[in-house]
Amino acid sequence: MKHLWYNCHAATLQGGHYSIIEDVAILTEAGKIAWIGPRAELEESCPSSTDLGGAWVTPGLIDCHTHLVFGGDRSAEFEQRLQGVSYAEIAAQGGGIASTVRATREASETELLTKAERYARAFLREGVTTLEIKSGYGLDLANERKMLRVARQLAQRLPLSVRTSCLSAHALPPEYAGRSDDYIALVCEQILPALAQEQLVDAVDAFCEHLGFSPEQVERVFIAARQLGLPVKLHAEQLSSLHGSSLAARYQALSADHLEYMTEEDAIAMAEAGTVAVLLPGAFVTLRETQLPPIELLRKHSVAMAVASDFNPGTSPALSLRLMLNLACTAFRLTPEEALAGVTLHAARALGLEQSHGSLEVGKQADFIAWDITRPAELAYWLGGDLPKRVFRNAEEIFLG
Ligand SMILES: [Zn+2]
Repeated sequence: MKHLWYNCHAATLQGGHYSIIEDVAILTEAGKIAWIGPRAELEESCPSSTDLGGAWVTPGLIDCHTHLVFGGDRSAEFEQRLQGVSYAEIAAQGGGIASTVRATREASETELLTKAERYARAFLREGVTTLEIKSGYGLDLANERKMLRVARQLAQRLPLSVRTSCLSAHALPPEYAGRSDDYIALVCEQILPALAQEQLVDAVDAFCEHLGFSPEQVERVFIAARQLGLPVKLHAEQLSSLHGSSLAARYQALSADHLEYMTEEDAIAMAEAGTVAVLLPGAFVTLRETQLPPIELLRKHSVAMAVASDFNPGTSPALSLRLMLNLACTAFRLTPEEALAGVTLHAARALGLEQSHGSLEVGKQADFIAWDITRPAELAYWLGGDLPKRVFRNAEEIFLG
């Protein structure tokens, strides 16, 4: 049955860019958008309707880069670093990512699920209806499987769409110290094929960095992904320039993420491949980085820019995507319109969901938020906090409790 939503305005993101319709009417049917346009142009009458009370409607928010499933936390390390202990010293004590790998391996699937559900609810409460979740703290078949199973279960337990990325090439597990090529072989020949076979993987990701894996090793992972018919993404150019983003573009990656040290050649390659630039201001601020991602270059070459939380226990304990909207504007100088497109339209593309999510257009899922705000820029203006809203997924209201 059709349902009419009226007495509202919409930031629709129609046509591949930020766009608005004031005094909009939206017709939904079977969980999808059947019609959207100025209310004055609506010809059908619809007995079933909802007055949204003057709200601004946006697509449901999409966080397209999170590491939401993990054991333990790193708050003690956060304190140590504030006291002047260096990252190298912390790593030498077994801290850093190694401590998260240890805690994740030790945690049961149920323990991980309980924690992850708490974090996912925090995102859902602020209007996130689609979440990407990466593996990458298990670093062996059993533990990577455990993480991805938790991600899949979240989609069963919560009114959320979840896309998984297998990030087994995130860090070198301790048992492979000094044998990174052997570990990449394990990822390509055993971990990825097994997890893909089990339908646990929507995309394949890797960490291309001196601290992570070389471009040559990443390419082996991309070739394995291609053989399995899986799209790729990449953590690239976060701390140095290895041209991982150009490599990602050569493999038609959905996205290259971080990008502080990318070059113009990288931007051109990404534009030609349609690879989305995912900007992660939470990690930038937490690490007190000073090298900004080259926003002007990305604009110049029309590379689509997404914004995400990079939620993880070490470098971006960012339990809020709306706070990232603010940081994308204040730290990276995005406009509020660019930031909003970055957590809707372009975030959907970074997940390969551009046909069904990310904008208010006919045929797409009726995932939307009705915000009690006066202008869309408010979404980026407030430094976090809870804004009054109603959240709808597949045209059904979600009660956040
Ligand atoms: Zn990440």
